[in-house]
Amino acid sequence: MTFNCRQCGTCCMHLGDYIVIERQTGQFTFECECVSTGTAFTAEVDEDKHRIFSDFSFPQAHEAACPFLRPDGNLVRCTIHRDSPAQCKFYRCVAMRIFDPDGKILGYITGALALHSEDLQLRSVWEDIERGRPKSDEDAEIWIGSLLQKKGYRVE
Ligand code: SF4
Ligand code: SF4
Repeated sequence: MTFNCRQCGTCCMHLGDYIVIERQTGQFTFECECVSTGTAFTAEVDEDKHRIFSDFSFPQAHEAACPFLRPDGNLVRCTIHRDSPAQCKFYRCVAMRIFDPDGKILGYITGALALHSEDLQLRSVWEDIERGRPKSDEDAEIWIGSLLQKKGYRVE
C-alpha cells in the first residue's frame, strides 16, 4: 500500500493562505512561512523547475493556490519539492483504495484514515472498524488493510 502521488496538485490548490512567501531573496530563493505550524522556512525553486516557476499565469489565475504550484504538461507540480515543509512531504491524500473482488472501486481511505465511500455495505463494515481499530495510526492502517482483506475486499 505504497502511496504514489500523481502530482495532480489538487491538495495544494487552496493552500495559498498557509504557505506564504514573506520575502524574495534571490531570483529563485524565498523566505517563507508555513502558517498552520508557525514555522519559517527557506525555499529555493528546484533547479529543473525554474522554467515552469517563471510562468506566473497559473498563480495569477488561481489566487488561492500555493504560490509554488505550477502546471507542467499534464501534471500540476510543487516547484520546491526539495525544500517544501515536512507536512507537505508526508502528506498523502489516499492511504488505501478499496475494491470489490471484481476490481470495482468502492471507496478510499484518506491519509488521516477517514473512509470516503458511497457503498452502504462497506460503510457498515467501516463502523465496526472504527469501534475496534488500534489507537496508533500506523498500527491502525495495517490492521484496517488486513481486516478489509479478510472480509473479501481488495486493497491497494
Ligand atoms: S497528494 Fe494527492 S491530491 Fe495531492 S498532488 Fe498528490 S495525488 Fe494529488
Ligand atoms: S509547498 Fe509544494 S507541496 Fe506544499 S502546498 Fe506548496 S506546492 Fe503543495
